[in-house]
Amino acid sequence: MIILWACISCKKQKKTPPEKVPITPKEELLEVQKKIPEREINIYYDTSRWYNILDLDPSIQIDIRYATENNFVGEIMYDCGECFLRPEVAKAIVKINKDVKEKGMGGIKIFDCYRPRPYQQRLWDRVPDQRFVSPPSKGSMHTRGAAVDLTLLDKEGNELDMGTDFDSFEKEAYHNFPHEPHILKNRSLLKSMMYKRGFKHISTEWWHYSYTLQNYSLSDWVWECNND
Ligand SMILES: [Zn+2]
Repeated sequence: MIILWACISCKKQKKTPPEKVPITPKEELLEVQKKIPEREINIYYDTSRWYNILDLDPSIQIDIRYATENNFVGEIMYDCGECFLRPEVAKAIVKINKDVKEKGMGGIKIFDCYRPRPYQQRLWDRVPDQRFVSPPSKGSMHTRGAAVDLTLLDKEGNELDMGTDFDSFEKEAYHNFPHEPHILKNRSLLKSMMYKRGFKHISTEWWHYSYTLQNYSLSDWVWECNND
């Protein structure tokens, strides 16, 4: 009888899950770093507020267009291009990149992430028109670190045909524009991947998605640049 009891108790013990060790955001990033030794992570930023997406997944393609002249203003608006997001948002984006790759595709390509309010101010000073830019006082989901502008890549790394370039203000950029079926299919694929991880779209920009599972405040913090 004692032996039987001992066995039951032993079985029960085995089923108990191991206690979860609490991990800070910085520890989490350092854990990630161990898996990607080729990237030297410089965690100078507050990891309770921000993650640099490339510190989580360096395979994600980044082309921050406002750090180049290839944007609707035609001028460099950011001192340098980095993709910072709120930690939960960044982790959701990493999952999306993985989801896309599991479909045999090349992953995602990001055009814009967190936009610090000082940079929003620069855009507003250059284009003070609410049809194209949110006033810095009002801000946007980008200024909260909760929006991402992105597209999908095929297995060769080429951007899928979405009907227009990023930041087109034409009607062709709207979700309801009657494009050819292959374009609608590409957009619908991006949309379904984003919704699965808690993002929602806006009607006028096929590339823009906002995270819905948490609220964040506007931020003035600007990342560091080494533009020597
Ligand atoms: Zn956007």
